Amino acid sequence: MSISQEIESKINIVELAGRYVQMKKAGVNYKALCPFHSEKTASFVISPVKNLAYCFSCHHGGGPIRFLMEMEKIEFSEALHILAKEAGVELKTDYYKERGEKTGDIYDMYRIATDFYREEILRDENKEKLNYLLNRGISRETIDRFGLGYSGNPRELFTRMKDKGFTEQAIIDSGIFVGPGRDKFYGRIIFPIANFAGHTVAFTGRITDKWEPKYLNSPVSDIFNKSAILYGFHLAKSTIAKEQSVIIVEWQMDTVALHQANIYNTVGISWTALTKEHITLIKRFTKKLYLCLDWDKAGVEATFKSLENLYNEDLDIYVISLPDAKDPDEFIKSGGDFQEEMKKALTPIAFYIKEWAKKYDITQMTGKKAIWEELKKMLKHIKNPIEIDAYIREIGKILNLSTDVLYSELKNFREKRIIEDVKKQTSFERTELLGGYMRLYGYFDLFLEKFQYTLEDGMSIPSFFVIKNLLSERESGKNNGAIDLDRLSAIELFIEEDNASLSQEIITQKFLELIGYLNKICFEQEKKILLENIDPNSTEYMIERHKLQEKAKKIGVKFN
Ligand code: ZN
Repeated sequence: MSISQEIESKINIVELAGRYVQMKKAGVNYKALCPFHSEKTASFVISPVKNLAYCFSCHHGGGPIRFLMEMEKIEFSEALHILAKEAGVELKTDYYKERGEKTGDIYDMYRIATDFYREEILRDENKEKLNYLLNRGISRETIDRFGLGYSGNPRELFTRMKDKGFTEQAIIDSGIFVGPGRDKFYGRIIFPIANFAGHTVAFTGRITDKWEPKYLNSPVSDIFNKSAILYGFHLAKSTIAKEQSVIIVEWQMDTVALHQANIYNTVGISWTALTKEHITLIKRFTKKLYLCLDWDKAGVEATFKSLENLYNEDLDIYVISLPDAKDPDEFIKSGGDFQEEMKKALTPIAFYIKEWAKKYDITQMTGKKAIWEELKKMLKHIKNPIEIDAYIREIGKILNLSTDVLYSELKNFREKRIIEDVKKQTSFERTELLGGYMRLYGYFDLFLEKFQYTLEDGMSIPSFFVIKNLLSERESGKNNGAIDLDRLSAIELFIEEDNASLSQEIITQKFLELIGYLNKICFEQEKKILLENIDPNSTEYMIERHKLQEKAKKIGVKFN
């Protein structure tokens, strides 16, 4: 029996899958709604006899290791580590080498380093480092909870890893060292960064003489993906699930401070705003999210960016704004009641208006209009009509404006944007799109009416032959075989999808926008020919120029 088989044999799949899905007994098996795809009738089957959890619709899942890998989006070796621990099976470090698995080695090295740094900070000779943390208001219990340590011996850790059988190259490649025996984090307080399952995947080292920005992070590696890591998530996830909410703060100090204040559903993000990867992870646990990033310029920008990533994610979102404090750590140290501030958290709309009110005078009409312009840019991304309705009501209330006016304003804005988008259309040639519109909506006569040039003039435009052929086929009533009908059908499907929710009026406007583009190309060409071939000092030139000006006006292009 291989070690993975041994581990799987000791794991009860019903119990494991039961942590993620609600299952019902169906004969000898259990059934549940699939956790990997969205469905209304259960096609996810859990078989205790076969020790399998598998979806017959999307074909995800499998034995305990495969199931956990897919559920937690983790590597094989990660899943193996977690289940080995649960099964009480000891994994030897050389196990991965036999399999040629790189990540298994790295996990082990980071675990050895975490333990080593922990031992170091508890040594008598490093007592001042421990006291330093205690004096910064971090309790002994918190130090243990987050596994904080100290790197006080640059060579010993290297030797210890070599003794465990790792090669010098592998140890250096781990990102913990800068060279043989030279610990990258030497002389620093160590904050281990753990992944979802609680395994260390990176470190932050902080120097103690000046605390604030003097920190050093592990490089990105096979096991460390900066934009997916939530600091403290392994410690917070059960509380997040229980309290059905999560608080997002900035990285380590704020996370540590809130956990110490018994607010355990707190996790930290770093370097960037909340990413889509973070959001996917969070959504598996709760639908309610509080953002509490720093209140400096960078923090507010990160809040804006995070809110943008949270559009259409079907979450209840709040922004906590702390009075007179830069961040949660400072707020709590100054005796603030964080739970009380959570109750006063702002909705995204209230947050936006609060921020823009710093720039615009909210009591004046010009200020209200300016803020509404900003809000429209945000609202145009929201797809759900119920959400839009709630936001508009809130805006109307705060800015004291009629919701009817806001609705029709927003509708105009969205429609205008849809038409704008046509101008940027690049997936198909605009001429091909025009052909699609003509066939789909019967816009042949409209085309002939609005196109200001002859079909021969048009032939200098890429793919114009599509339009020319469509028109001649319509004239003659027979297919001359010059058009790729498969491609045209695909274009029609694209247009149908694109226009599914639009009124005929808007669709016509989009079509006219496309014709306007062709007119413009033909005009430019006409202009070029004229200016190149006639003596600019002649009377004829003046006459032709005047004609061009008239035409420019008619088709709406600029010409002086
Ligand atoms: Zn499925």
